[in-house]
Amino acid sequence: MPKIKDNFVIPGDFIGTSEEFLSRNGTYEDKGNIYAACTGVVKIDTKERSVSVVPQTDTPPVPKVGDIVIGRVSDIKSSVVLVDIARIKGQEDREIATPEQGAIHISNIKDAYVKELGYEFGFRDIVRAKVIDAKTLRLSTDHKDLGVIKAICSRCRATLRRKGDKLECSGCGRIETRKIADDYGSGMI
Ligand SMILES: [Zn+2]
Repeated sequence: MPKIKDNFVIPGDFIGTSEEFLSRNGTYEDKGNIYAACTGVVKIDTKERSVSVVPQTDTPPVPKVGDIVIGRVSDIKSSVVLVDIARIKGQEDREIATPEQGAIHISNIKDAYVKELGYEFGFRDIVRAKVIDAKTLRLSTDHKDLGVIKAICSRCRATLRRKGDKLECSGCGRIETRKIADDYGSGMI
């Protein structure tokens, strides 16, 4: 049995020589030496006398139905609000797989008739929403805990503060409306 380095390897670690092994997945050969091409665990196939590295990377979280997600409004269309999802609640310290875009349809904003999405959301608002379809990443803010948690003034870009059921600009005093979450402005996500 040929000697190999420790089981766990990072890219560039020497694993063995091409005289001992065939270089397979997750490895590369350079001048007769085999090195790890990824982070993972070395696997030896004794029959074939080959070596590979099985990746052991931390899989980034993927939003599921029922997950609460935090994102930023990237576009407001006539019947849908697009949100760049940044975090999944409960896994705040982990970046999600790829920046994914969710959509809140006008019928999933709140338990009331919505005439115009511009009264419920603003461009670049931070939103807390629930995933109601994981495949299409359809989101809902139809709950008192859900909706906009941070917003900026559409005129001067200063932070909007809560004033009753409306929002007031801390810079210019402009009043705006949003579908806000109960704890708007608390800094909690
Ligand atoms: Zn303002």
